[in-house]
Amino acid sequence: MKITDVTLTLFSWSDIPATTYGRHTGKFGGKSQLGLVTMSTDEGVQGHAFLGSAMRGAHLDGESLIHYLKPLVLGQDPLDRERLWQAMWQKNRQTTLRCIGAMDVALWDIAGKAAGQPVHKMLGGAKSPRLTCYASMVRYTEPKVVAANVARALGLGFRHIKLHEIELAATRAAREAAGPDVDIMLDVNCPWSAQEALAMAEKLRPLNLRWLEEPVWPPEDYAALAQVRARGCIAVAAGENATTLTQFQHLLEARAVDYLQPSPAKMGGISELRKVFALAAQHQVAVAPHSFYDGPAFLGGLHVNAAMGRNSLVEWRFFDLESRLYGDAAIPEGGSIAVPQGPGLGFDPDPDVIRLYRAN
Ligand SMILES: [Mg+2]
Repeated sequence: MKITDVTLTLFSWSDIPATTYGRHTGKFGGKSQLGLVTMSTDEGVQGHAFLGSAMRGAHLDGESLIHYLKPLVLGQDPLDRERLWQAMWQKNRQTTLRCIGAMDVALWDIAGKAAGQPVHKMLGGAKSPRLTCYASMVRYTEPKVVAANVARALGLGFRHIKLHEIELAATRAAREAAGPDVDIMLDVNCPWSAQEALAMAEKLRPLNLRWLEEPVWPPEDYAALAQVRARGCIAVAAGENATTLTQFQHLLEARAVDYLQPSPAKMGGISELRKVFALAAQHQVAVAPHSFYDGPAFLGGLHVNAAMGRNSLVEWRFFDLESRLYGDAAIPEGGSIAVPQGPGLGFDPDPDVIRLYRAN
């Protein structure tokens, strides 16, 4: 059996003003809105569900359901419930926060422009005019290609390099290409159990990594991370998948990380990022924001880092693009990047780049 369609029908009806349970006093003025979800299959079997809650209208949830979840289930076997649940959860767990984060960064950009100040000034001012960047590479797998890209990054002046490799040979190739004095970090993106991670940590130890990033699945298993950190004798970095401030607090309280990596585009923008910096300072843990992306979220993280970080490294996506949103601005030189000094985020997207590359 295969899922062939998912549709949403919205209902809006008034509550009966006075019932045996008393009068409705909620903020929706006695209106209830619910969505009827209908899932169809190629065998004619249909499933129905309601979307929404007494507190919230269904139309926004419905847009998320249709845009983000429907494509993941179409053509799939509806009887594989658990597999589909996991696929939907893994791909969409941060959707709402990503949206709030985007709104928040835009709000700060406006606030800075209205005040005629760069965002970092509104957060207390940058401690230094430039911040050190690390070249954050994609996964190349092939050791020779890894070595070539490490050499390329060194040639551009980077002295800190992060790999997204998962094999020992590729990591070793990077260390051999970089020599002993360059910082190498390894981001494996949550592939292992704690036991597997500990076994790998032992093999990785001679390569003298600055940190091992997100070694365990699921990313919120902070006890497992803490175990890898304590018993693996290796510095651990994590946090790009943490969302609420409470999760960051739990990460810190579990003593799970040496480097905390909030991601402004994923965890709520500048407003939340600055709270995480303050929280981490209380725990005396270094913050190295996740910013494996370009554009305003990258700049947002840069401003907070400049004002609140303590020699925090900036993640620079080591990636050749046809064009960049800010043209030649906001690009590292010699392994460091200038803190933007213009109002707001400091740069506006180049209208020509938008015109040339927009997809909607
Ligand atoms: Mg990462």
